[in-house]
Amino acid sequence: MKKVIGFHYTLTDKSGTVLDSSIGEDPLYFLEGSQQIIPGLEKVITTMNVGDKKKIEVKAQDAYGDVNPELVVKVKKTQFPPDAKLTVGDQFQVNNDQHSPVFTIMSIEPDEVTVDGNHPMAGKDLFFDVEIVGSREATKEEETHGHAHGAHGHGHH
Ligand SMILES: [Zn+2]
Repeated sequence: MKKVIGFHYTLTDKSGTVLDSSIGEDPLYFLEGSQQIIPGLEKVITTMNVGDKKKIEVKAQDAYGDVNPELVVKVKKTQFPPDAKLTVGDQFQVNNDQHSPVFTIMSIEPDEVTVDGNHPMAGKDLFFDVEIVGSREATKEEETHGHAHGAHGHGHH
C-alpha cells in the first residue's frame, strides 16, 4: 500500500534566498512513488516520521537536472500569434499538456525571440527545510490517478 505524506517546506538556494515555501499555506501532500516531488527530496522524506524536521540538501541532478543548452532556442517572431505581447521573463507552454516544458523568454530581437525550456531551477542545488505533518495510506482513487488528493483524500480537482 502506498502512502500519502504531507509536509511543510521552505526552499532556499545556495545563497539562502527563499525560492518557495509552504509556510502560511496548506502543507504539500504527495503520493509515494508518483514523481509528484523531486526524487532527491522524496528519498529522504519517506524515511522520516510525522513531527520530524530536517534540512535536506538536494543536488541539481536529483532535483530539476542540469541545464540543457539544447533547450535554449531561437524562435522566429512570426511563429508567435501576431497579437502576442512578448516580454522578457514571460513564461508559456507550447501546448496545454501540463507536463510539456515551460519556456521562458530570455531576449527579444527584431526578428527572433530566444526562449529557454529549462526548468527555472535546473542546474541549482536546492536546500529544503522540511517538517512532516501527516502520513496516511493512499486511497484507491489516488493510486489510480497517480497523485495525492490533499490531507484527507477527498479534495478534488
Ligand atoms: Zn485525482
